[in-house]
Amino acid sequence: MSGCVFCKIARNEMDSLILYRNDSVTVFMDINPVTPGHLLVIPNKHFENMNDVEDQYLFEIARLSKKMGIVLENALGATGFNVLVANGRSAQQSVFHLHFHVIPRYENDSIDLWFDRPMARKSDIREVYALLKAHSSA
Ligand SMILES: [Zn+2]
Repeated sequence: MSGCVFCKIARNEMDSLILYRNDSVTVFMDINPVTPGHLLVIPNKHFENMNDVEDQYLFEIARLSKKMGIVLENALGATGFNVLVANGRSAQQSVFHLHFHVIPRYENDSIDLWFDRPMARKSDIREVYALLKAHSSA
């Protein structure tokens, strides 16, 4: 997609620190790292987000996210990693080319992933469950 910064990175038309690339995905360093080693895994083909990505790309993105997470542990001494997707504007997606964040985690890195939960009411769980159950057929 013309004008898409991640398409440019995937086509090697933009300066970036690429760790790995194959026919379907590219892995590169996030320029605004949350922790040292923060990576992005993107499909080389433009998809806006999870809603429109083709399954074979999703499989390859997931496979590389796992592989690179383990590399982060082995190379940097991370003791875990998060795989995170911001899917859609309200989920704080800022670049509208699907990307998985692979964020290495370190002991005492003081990041709290769980948003000081719970923020939704526990009393709503069964009602929400019933709605989702009625719409799930995967
Ligand atoms: Zn793109």
